[in-house]
Amino acid sequence: MSVFSMQDFDGHEQVVFASDPETGLKAIIAIHNTARGPALGGCRMWAYAGENDAIRDVLRLSRGMTYKNAMADLPFGGGKSVIIGDARSMKTPELMAAMGRAVERLAGRYIIAEDVGTSVEDMAVVRTVTSHVAGLKEGGSGDPSPATAHGVFMGIRAAVGYKMRRNSLDGLRVNVQGLGHVGLHLCRQLADEGARLAVADIRREHVEEAVDSFGATPIDPDSIYDVEADVFAPCALGAVINDDTLPRLRVSVVAGSANNQLAENRHGAALAARGILYAPDYVINAGGVINISHELDGGGYDRETAFAHVGRIHDTLLTIFSRADQDGLPTNVAADRIAEERFRPSRVA
Ligand code: NAD
Repeated sequence: MSVFSMQDFDGHEQVVFASDPETGLKAIIAIHNTARGPALGGCRMWAYAGENDAIRDVLRLSRGMTYKNAMADLPFGGGKSVIIGDARSMKTPELMAAMGRAVERLAGRYIIAEDVGTSVEDMAVVRTVTSHVAGLKEGGSGDPSPATAHGVFMGIRAAVGYKMRRNSLDGLRVNVQGLGHVGLHLCRQLADEGARLAVADIRREHVEEAVDSFGATPIDPDSIYDVEADVFAPCALGAVINDDTLPRLRVSVVAGSANNQLAENRHGAALAARGILYAPDYVINAGGVINISHELDGGGYDRETAFAHVGRIHDTLLTIFSRADQDGLPTNVAADRIAEERFRPSRVA
């Protein structure tokens, strides 16, 4: 396999393979673009079927962080790291420290944070060997999920304001798919504003919590695409907008936290053709990384300032929606263009 010709390689500045036989560490750190600043992106630990899968994943995620950080107007570039292995059985403090040493060797070009399979506790271990780490509990921003949920909430506000000319969320019908760390926080904010929630999760206890706490109506996970509402908020899995689900959607807006919601780019155009406004995933779910970035701005983390910054996702989305309308583009394409103008200024000339 040629790494350079992979679609997601896309001119990566640097890709590092790191290993530590003593702890069993096998990791890849990808730095896509540092035009805006050091590469900031989480560390995923996953039992990849093979090394090629791990390479493909880290390149895709790292490239995605360049777009996400640029779109959120952060002074950071895009990067990501993956550790190959089962987080439940293979993760040890020694392994995380070895990962920290690999990050330290990059001398600040890459800043690590938590992601799927790693936690704030793991980042505390990493912190013992490198300062190029964010997402810390002690004196840091901690769990990113409440900030991510706040960004999605503000994004839903922007999307229904733009599409439905609604300023109030009172009575707005929102179908929330996935009631995990982000989904439940989102439900709380929506319920506080009087939204009517219908929810689906494959874990019964999560559904019960939403029903008991927010008066939500439970929906069967397989039927959520068929239930009429104003907003569909995917907060569980990727690729939920696909050839099967698209014709079934009976909503005006798709706006949720899940990464890679479109199975393929063309599904963005298909949503637009059906008159459904799509809030591009990496824009609306940037609250977590925006929050984390405030840990790195030198002045010390302040939650209020960080959340105010997260709230700007509202206006960023309005800019994207207008640009999409002006240029006759699907919103996902308009977002990519704006992001590229920010990290590849020479391309715009
Ligand atoms: P999580 O694992 O805490 O929650 C996911 C929830 O989805 C779980 O309750 C799970 O049972 C449920 N689920 C799984 N399959 C489902 C299905 N088929 N139908 C309905 N529910 C299903 O994850 P999270 O941290 O809440 O993140 C949710 C999504 O948002 C993920 O795609 C994640 O990548 C993305 N995201 C999260 C953050 C963050 O700060 N946590 C930031 C950016 C993006």
